[in-house]
Amino acid sequence: MYDRELNTAIKAVREAATLCARVQSQIDDAVLEKNDKSPVTIADFASQALVCSTINEAFPDDPIIAEEDSADLQIPENTPLLVRITNEISATRSETTSDLACRWIDFGGADRYTDRFWTLDPIDGTKGFLRTEQYAIALALIVEGQVTVAALACPNLITPTGEKGAVFSAIKGQGTFLASLTSNDAGVPIHVTRTQTGADARFCESVESGHSSHDDAIAIANAIGITNESVRIDSQAKYGVVASGMADIYMRLPTRKGYVERIWDHAAGVLVVEEAGGKATDITGAPLDFTHGKGLETNRGVIVTNGHLHDDVLSAIAQRNLVG
Ligand code: AMP
Ligand code: MG
Repeated sequence: MYDRELNTAIKAVREAATLCARVQSQIDDAVLEKNDKSPVTIADFASQALVCSTINEAFPDDPIIAEEDSADLQIPENTPLLVRITNEISATRSETTSDLACRWIDFGGADRYTDRFWTLDPIDGTKGFLRTEQYAIALALIVEGQVTVAALACPNLITPTGEKGAVFSAIKGQGTFLASLTSNDAGVPIHVTRTQTGADARFCESVESGHSSHDDAIAIANAIGITNESVRIDSQAKYGVVASGMADIYMRLPTRKGYVERIWDHAAGVLVVEEAGGKATDITGAPLDFTHGKGLETNRGVIVTNGHLHDDVLSAIAQRNLVG
C-alpha cells in the first residue's frame, strides 16, 4: 500500500530539487552583495508549483497544505517576479503560463486538518539556500493524523557514501531508504546509530540561533556528557543526518514563548527518522500532533534521536527551565 503515493512524491521532489539546484547555481557574489532574495523566492514558488501540480494530477482529491500562496505574485508590481517563476517552471513543464503557475501554487492552499492530506515545504531552509548551503524539499502524506508517506530531497547533502545530493523516503511500517538525487532507483535502507551514551554522541541543530536556542542546546549537551561540537545545518536535512547515522541527536529548542512549529517543517523528516529506527517528540516527550492544521499547536520544540538517547535528552531538558 501507498507505493503509488511514494513514487509520485519522490518524482515530485526530484523534479523540484533539480529546479532549485539550477536556480541556486545562479547565485553569485553580485546577488549576495545586493542581499537579493529573489533567487530563493523564485525557486520557492516554482518548486511549490511543480510539486503541487504533480500531486494534484495523481491524486486530485487530496488537499495540500503548503507554505506559499500566489496572492502576492498576482499584484502588478510583482509581474516581473511571476514571469521569472513561470520561466523556471517551463523548463520542466513547457505548457506553463503565469495563470497556470498561480493555479498550481494554489493547489497548496489547504489549511485545515482532514483525514488525508499532503504537506509541503517547497524550500525548507531558505536561509541555507541563499548562503548556497543546505536546504530541502519536504513532502509528506498524513493519513488519520499519522505521517504515512515521506519524500525529502536534500540537494547539497553529502551522504555517508560521499555522494552529493540525497532523497530520503519512507512509507510507515516499511523502513527508510536513501537514494541519489539523479537515479531512479528506490535506494538503500538506512538506519540510525546505536550510540548509547552522551559521551559518544553527536548532535545537530539549526544554523540560525533564532530558530533554535544554541545556548540551551549547549547546556543540554553538557548535561548528558556530549563533548563533540554541534553540527549546524539548515533545513530538514538534519532529520536525514540522524536517519542515516551521521549524527545521533537533533535538538530544536524554543527561542521564544508562543512560537508554533509549522507542520511542513517536520512531517517528512519525522517519518524518515522513525522508519530508520529513531524517535521524534517535542521537548516534553509528547508525540508531534499533526491534527491541528498548519501548526504543531500542542507541541513545543522538537527532539529527534536514535531512540537510545531520547530519555536522557528529555530528562536533561526537564531539569532546565527552557523558554516556551
Ligand atoms: P532551520 O533551517 O532548521 O533553521 O529551520 C527553518 C525553518 O524554521 C523555517 O522553515 C521556518 O518555518 C522556521 N522558523 C522560523 N522562525 C522560527 C522560530 N522562531 N523557531 C523555530 N522555527 C522557526
Ligand atoms: Mg521550512
